[in-house]
Amino acid sequence: MINFSLLSPQGFRGAGHRHGTRHEALLGTEWATPGFLPGPVTPGEWEVVVHTHMVAGVTWGEVVVESLDGLPPALPTQKPLESQPAPGPWMLGDLHCHTDHSDARWTVRELAEAATRRGLSFLALTDHNTISGSAELTRLAPTFLQLPGLELTTFYGHATVLGLTEYQDWTELDALHGTRELAERVVNSGGLFTIAHPFSEGDPICTGCAWTYFDLRPSQATHLEVWNGAWNQPHNLQALAHWYDLLAQGRRVIAAAGTDVHGPDYAVGDGFTCTPTTTDSATLLSQLQAGNTYLARATCLELDVQTPSGAATLGSVQAAGPWTVQLHWHSLPGGCELRINTDGTQVVQPVSEDGTQTLELHVERWFNLEIRLPGGELYALTNPVWANLI
Ligand SMILES: [Zn+2]
Ligand SMILES: [Zn+2]
Repeated sequence: MINFSLLSPQGFRGAGHRHGTRHEALLGTEWATPGFLPGPVTPGEWEVVVHTHMVAGVTWGEVVVESLDGLPPALPTQKPLESQPAPGPWMLGDLHCHTDHSDARWTVRELAEAATRRGLSFLALTDHNTISGSAELTRLAPTFLQLPGLELTTFYGHATVLGLTEYQDWTELDALHGTRELAERVVNSGGLFTIAHPFSEGDPICTGCAWTYFDLRPSQATHLEVWNGAWNQPHNLQALAHWYDLLAQGRRVIAAAGTDVHGPDYAVGDGFTCTPTTTDSATLLSQLQAGNTYLARATCLELDVQTPSGAATLGSVQAAGPWTVQLHWHSLPGGCELRINTDGTQVVQPVSEDGTQTLELHVERWFNLEIRLPGGELYALTNPVWANLI
């Protein structure tokens, strides 16, 4: 795999993160190879930064730069997708997905069509180390609420960065330095930094896929992806167990999901993000930042949490004490169970496909819910409401 980034005298002009041993990028005023940003090709010093993955032994490479007359014409304008039915009180979306702007097997349009079929209302496109697909997604699928994004894809871990339109330079990071500063810079600029698939298999199977940065451990992150792709994979089980360990230690880390879809379609068991319905991307971003979310295969829950300090949203911090949770669930597969976690203690009960229940809980540290399918696979997981003992 080769990842080469292009830097013009004015800054980042895209990256090609793809399998194979030979890559070509065309760059013009109106059009560029997916992964790269069209615009004026200005005179001055340009940089080509080449990173390789999964290369055994010593090898050599060559960079050839040519100036061409007459680039391919811009592609014919494609008709935007039809608008979708309005969601209910909660909407479903994907915060981690890829297209041919990096190494995926489908185009932005094909992703948007699949997202429409799945009933998604919001999308954050997170191609590897590039933001170039964002403009195309906005043009083709204006009915989706969108957040700009990319997946920082480095030699020591991956992280999705959402809500910022600037490229994030990762090339100076090493295993010990720089990552915490980068994450803080993203958060302080109003963005969202989520450690992705922290327990994926790493080097040499997938260089950088496991999170091994020492200066930003999952316990120090604001958001941790605990559901990456289809649920039933060892790295998800490990990530969820680790997240519960962090809650037990008193850490307030928000759980995140992303399908990490690379085409040709979403898979059964993919984890999406549910959040209260809004038509405003700034509100969407703030809800995600606050953890007012649950992770699920489909929208299936509505909660009304009342605490001594008032009504609570998922992700918020409330006064400890007696809490009342009005819970409504709908459209579940048959035979599911509801797991109610309060301060690390779990109560399990069967649930019908549709139902309503009032839970009277005494919460001193945190509370969350899970819905599990028969056999134990995760169907939904809420972020906690935290209790403040002070
Ligand atoms: Zn990744
Ligand atoms: Zn990814």
